[in-house]
Amino acid sequence: MRKNIVAGNWKMNKNFADAEALMIQLLEYKKNNTTNCEVYIAPPALYLTMAKDIFKNAEVEVFAQDVSEYQSGAYTGEISVEMINSIGIDGSLVSHSERRQYHGETDSHANRKVKALLDVGLTPIYCNGETLEQRKAGQHFEVVKNQTEVALFTLSADEIKKVVIAYEPVWAIGTGETATPEQAQEIHAHIRSLIAAKYGQEVADEISILYGGSVKPDNAKEIFSQPDIDGGLIGGAALKIEDFSKIIEGF
Ligand code: PEP
Repeated sequence: MRKNIVAGNWKMNKNFADAEALMIQLLEYKKNNTTNCEVYIAPPALYLTMAKDIFKNAEVEVFAQDVSEYQSGAYTGEISVEMINSIGIDGSLVSHSERRQYHGETDSHANRKVKALLDVGLTPIYCNGETLEQRKAGQHFEVVKNQTEVALFTLSADEIKKVVIAYEPVWAIGTGETATPEQAQEIHAHIRSLIAAKYGQEVADEISILYGGSVKPDNAKEIFSQPDIDGGLIGGAALKIEDFSKIIEGF
């Protein structure tokens, strides 16, 4: 059975004190509630050590928002898989659309980052999705196919099983515009069928595919009820415990 996951991407938000306060609220929430999904957070890199400390006895996995494709060396500003591994971080987002948009990341970068994470036993949450222009041109199935193939299809079956995929249509991220549950479901099913064609249905059925793009407390349940949607990658609504906890309760 694949995992249901709600993951919060904090992006570049919150100072130290506010980040600590939100982590403590989430810790309290997790102590007092049984959840039907795994809960992950991806705070800014500066707060990863604090997150690991706060959640040391709680079932909240801590992810980086990005990681270098390189092992070590003269890469100013970068953080390596070895660094995050050495402080007990569980994995990293890979090629979020904002990394693609503002930092020129491509699926070739994603491929190397995914591999670097898997090589040290960490979980990649690989993000893909089409732009508004691509959707309007009816290219969304093809775009997501190309992205998935370039980023993931050099992996072995054992490797790809450890990847979490987040389908995030760019036009729905931070815009208040959400894909309908049916629109999301058809792309999720498409991604799963691509994986099944390459690696077999058993492998495809093990991979959690999350939806991201303006998931809110009032639409989470319906989105998560789709057969190929195994949870959400949540941006804005992960920044308030009231919203994030209601989304978790969508399962
Ligand atoms: C995201 O950052 O991955 C995201 C989906 O953001 P939002 O929920 O704010 O659209």
